[in-house]
Amino acid sequence: MAAKILIVEDEPAISEMVEMALSRANFEVVKATNAEEAILLLRDTLPALVLLDWMLPGTSGVEFARRIKKDGVTSHIPIIMLTAKGEEADKVYGLDAGADDYITKPFSPRELIARIRAVLRRAAPLAEQEIIEVDNLLLDTASHRISVNGELLELGPTEYRLLHFFMTHPERVYSRGQLLDSVWGSNVYVEERTVDVHIRRLRKALTPYGHERYVQTVRSAGYRFSTKV
Ligand code: CA
Repeated sequence: MAAKILIVEDEPAISEMVEMALSRANFEVVKATNAEEAILLLRDTLPALVLLDWMLPGTSGVEFARRIKKDGVTSHIPIIMLTAKGEEADKVYGLDAGADDYITKPFSPRELIARIRAVLRRAAPLAEQEIIEVDNLLLDTASHRISVNGELLELGPTEYRLLHFFMTHPERVYSRGQLLDSVWGSNVYVEERTVDVHIRRLRKALTPYGHERYVQTVRSAGYRFSTKV
């Protein structure tokens, strides 16, 4: 699945240039022209990274970065600031506000893509590991096998993807819509009830090992994978 990048930029020429560069590098692009619009998009689309212009009309880039980092659902999303030349104070201020990196305008598409890949690599160590382990639950992304204490666990493909997503995104609540987007993909039309069906199957598969308690229902919010009960 292509990583989704949210661009927040009010200058159409830059926004288009960035979109083109990202699409060519096989990223999925979501665009906003101001922070208000971006805030609405953020929780729905849960991008892998935000490219944030610093000089925005209305809510500033700094303010928006703070909001992303304060919200438990979005705080893990890395931010790269787009700043104008010579705004040294802004860079320090931006990094303080939670930005992970910055890039100075004008920049080349190649530089931009390299910086995005570097930040994504740093930000997603869990998702990149081949073997993901939670307690004695072992998920091998190379062979798509899951085992508990060496015993193989039979899971359907959707339950596997769901468990992989949960194990790499623990201790956070995801709505059914967010799970659909992340596990099924945003271009697929599936009813939210489908999520409950697969959660039930996943829990059933984990029950013999007592791990079904990790897949927790959070009332009126969604689901969370947690080893804390
Ligand atoms: Ca601007």
